[in-house]
Amino acid sequence: MPHYKIAIIGAGPAGYFTAQALQNSQSNELSFSIDMFERLPTMWGLVRSGVAPDHPKIKSVSKVFEKVASEPNFRLFGNVEVGSDLDIEEICPRYDAVVMCTGSNLGKKLGIPGEDLPGSISAAEFVPWYNGHPDYVGVEVPLDGDTAVIIGAGNVAMDCARMLALEPSELDVTDTAEHALKALHASKIRKVYIMGRRGVEHAAFTAPELRELPKLEHTDVIIDNEAVQSANQRASAAGEIDKQLASNLEAWRLIAENPQSGHERVMEFRFLSTPKEIKGEGKVEEIVFGVNGIKDGKVVDTGETYSVKTNLVISAIGYHALPIKGISFRDGKVENDNGRVLGTNIYTVGWAKRGPSGVIGTNKSDASDVVKLLIEDLSPEPKNGGDITVVLPQAKSIIDQVAWSKINTAEVAAGEALGKPRLKEVDKEKLISLGQ
Ligand code: NAP
Repeated sequence: MPHYKIAIIGAGPAGYFTAQALQNSQSNELSFSIDMFERLPTMWGLVRSGVAPDHPKIKSVSKVFEKVASEPNFRLFGNVEVGSDLDIEEICPRYDAVVMCTGSNLGKKLGIPGEDLPGSISAAEFVPWYNGHPDYVGVEVPLDGDTAVIIGAGNVAMDCARMLALEPSELDVTDTAEHALKALHASKIRKVYIMGRRGVEHAAFTAPELRELPKLEHTDVIIDNEAVQSANQRASAAGEIDKQLASNLEAWRLIAENPQSGHERVMEFRFLSTPKEIKGEGKVEEIVFGVNGIKDGKVVDTGETYSVKTNLVISAIGYHALPIKGISFRDGKVENDNGRVLGTNIYTVGWAKRGPSGVIGTNKSDASDVVKLLIEDLSPEPKNGGDITVVLPQAKSIIDQVAWSKINTAEVAAGEALGKPRLKEVDKEKLISLGQ
C-alpha cells in the first residue's frame, strides 16, 4: 500500500481541516503521514487569535482539531517558522505534497492621508492584541477618548466594535488576554461608530451577528431607521432579494424599530460614508468622511463631507497574506490554481488560497476539495526524501503535540480558577516553558 508524506504549513483551521481530509481519505490502498508546522508555540490559528472572546461556542471546533492531532499519523512541529527556521526548499523534496495553510494576517490599508498617525490601527493588530497573540501584546490602543471609529461593514469590524462597546465585566468570564481586559476595564470609550462605505443592503455582516445586537445587555445599538427603509426599497427595486439579504434586512429592521436607550455605551452604524482623511497633530484627533449617495444602483460621491472627533480609528477592511520566502504570492494570496501551485508539489487551502472570506467551517469544504486534487496528482511511487528532523533548527525548542497539550492544559487549569475557559499566556518563552 503506498504511503505518502504530507507537510502542512500553518496550524489554523485550514491546516487542521486539511489534515482531517487526508485522514478521512485513507483506505486499504492509500495512507498518509502528516507533519504540521506552525511558527507560534500555540496552535489553532484564528480560533485562538481571531475569534472574538465573547463567541466561545465558535472555539469549540478546537476539539475537532485535537482529535485530528491525536491520530498516530500526525506529528506537530510548533515554534518552527517556515521561511526563516526552515526553508520551503528544504521541505518540498522531503514530502510528496506540501500544503500552505498560512492564512492572511496583514491588514489592508485605507490609502488615505493620516492613516499612519498613532491611534490609527488595523483590525489585524487590534484583534490579535485582545486575543493574546504574542507578537501583538505591545500594540498601542488609545482608549482614553470617548469615541472610537471602526471602518468596514464586515464581521471583523463587528467583533472589534463589540469588544470596545461591551461592558468590560462581560469579558471577565472570557479568554480575553489579561493585558487587554485590564485596558478595556479602564477604557473611557463610550461611543463606537461602525462605518460602511456603501448602503445598509451591501454590508458584509452575517445575520447571526446582527441578530445578537439587540440582545446586548449594556449597550445601545443604533441604526437610522430611514437608512434601513431606503436600503429595503433599493434592494426591492433592484430585483429579487436573496435569502441572506432578506435575513439581514429583517435583522436591521428589528434593530432600527426597537432602539435601546439609556445605556452608557453606544454602538452606532453609519453607512454611505467613505473615509477621506485622518487628521491630528502627532496623533489621531479626527476622521473625515465623504458622504455617498446611490444613483442607478451605483455608489456615488456627493461631494459633501462630515467629520468625527476621535483618537482611535480601527480599519477592518480585509487582509493580505504575509509573504513567505520561496512562495509566490499574488493579490495578497499564494499564487494558485484552485489550490494547486502549478509546477510544484505545493498546494494551498484557506485564506492563503482564496483570500479572507468565509467562516471557519468554509475551510472544511475548501480542504476537502484541495485534498481531492492533491490525491489525483500523487505519483504512484511515494517520494523517499528522508525525514525532516535532520534539517530542523537544533537551537529551537520544538513544540510537539505533547508540549502543546501541556500548554493547553496549563492555560485551561489557570483559567478554571478564575471562572474563564482559559488564561492565555502571551509570552513566547513562558509558553515554551509551559510545554516542558
Ligand atoms: P469582509 O467581510 O470582506 O468585510 C470588509 C468590509 O470592509 C466591507 O464592508 C468592505 O466594503 C469594507 N472595505 C473594504 N475596503 C474598504 C475601504 N477602502 N474603505 C472602507 N471600507 C472598505 O471582511 P472581514 O470583516 O475582514 O471578514 C473576513 C471574513 O471573516 C468574512 O468572511 C467574515 O464573515 C469572516 N468572519 C466571520 C466571523 C463570524 O462568523 N462571527 C467573525 C469575523 C470574521 P465593500 O463591501 O464596499 O468592499
